[in-house]
Amino acid sequence: MNVRFWPFHLNLARKWTIASNYGPGGAGGTEACGVVFVELRDKDGVVGLGESAPSNRYHETVPSTVAFLEKIDPARLSFSDVMGSMSYLDSVAQDNFAPKGAVNIALLDGAARQAGKPLYDYLGLGFTEGKHITSFSIGIDRPQIIQEKVLEASSYPILKLKVGSADDTNNLAALRQAAPTKLVRVDANEAWKTKEEALERLEWLASDKHIQFVEQPMPATTSDNDLIWLKNRSPLPIMADESYRSIADVERCAECYHAVNVKLMKAGGGSSGFRALQAARKAGLKTMLGCMIESSILITAAAHLAELADYLDIDGNLLITNDPYIGATAQNGVISFAGASERFGLRVRARSEDKKE
Ligand SMILES: [Mg+2]
Repeated sequence: MNVRFWPFHLNLARKWTIASNYGPGGAGGTEACGVVFVELRDKDGVVGLGESAPSNRYHETVPSTVAFLEKIDPARLSFSDVMGSMSYLDSVAQDNFAPKGAVNIALLDGAARQAGKPLYDYLGLGFTEGKHITSFSIGIDRPQIIQEKVLEASSYPILKLKVGSADDTNNLAALRQAAPTKLVRVDANEAWKTKEEALERLEWLASDKHIQFVEQPMPATTSDNDLIWLKNRSPLPIMADESYRSIADVERCAECYHAVNVKLMKAGGGSSGFRALQAARKAGLKTMLGCMIESSILITAAAHLAELADYLDIDGNLLITNDPYIGATAQNGVISFAGASERFGLRVRARSEDKKE
């Protein structure tokens, strides 16, 4: 097996601000996000594509991703043995979920191509066209910009509003001026520090009759007692994101939340994302598939797991201007493989290959 990897900067169409990088007076936010693309090629020429979108929140960066990938012996990776290859990666170093996730996705791509199947069929899930709709995320901003963003996103039937700033009330009001009754998901990204503050904000949000649920109202380090107190009183379902990293967190989340957000980059790839979704459903939790700022490689990888999710929030590739890949599309929010020119594996190809034809 041959492995190649290269860092890349995804440029955001609009500055991206959430509670954790919001500064006083509207400062903060980011204009580009670093990812690392991975390509595996076996001796028969079968290629698998992967991507790592490391997140500071989980203490992972582009340099830490590259440092891990440099330690890999590609001779120990095989499209014919994805699980064995993952055990090898776990023996290289602990944690490093973002680079392990990238290699896992490349392995799954190659394995499904080798089997002559789309990844969703290789995984036994299938994919129903017309059924899976992603939300479109509106980051924290000034109310006037929120309104502009919401109007720009008018073709998307579901929005996700980031909160956790001093402008929350004005921002929701601005959103409602542009989209009075649109279904909205809210993400607090751990912003509310006490259970009383969280409950007060949840009650305020519940006075809007078109809010579906609220993600991560309090920090992941909040005690179980406080989270259970909040869950029992919350007028809206609460969803774990930062609290649900992988299958190891499932029991705690079943006690403390109504739903979980699974991201391939938190879980360490498609195989562990699959298990995290399945375990959450078995525990009675509603499931969402989420994402980081990512190219179409990771977004499409998540789309292959759509049948395991009650909700989709896989819009990271819609927020960038220089996506080098094409895979699943999201016209009007509807995730589709109908236009994918690749038949097997992830069904992703480089945009530059399209230009050559
Ligand atoms: Mg979230």
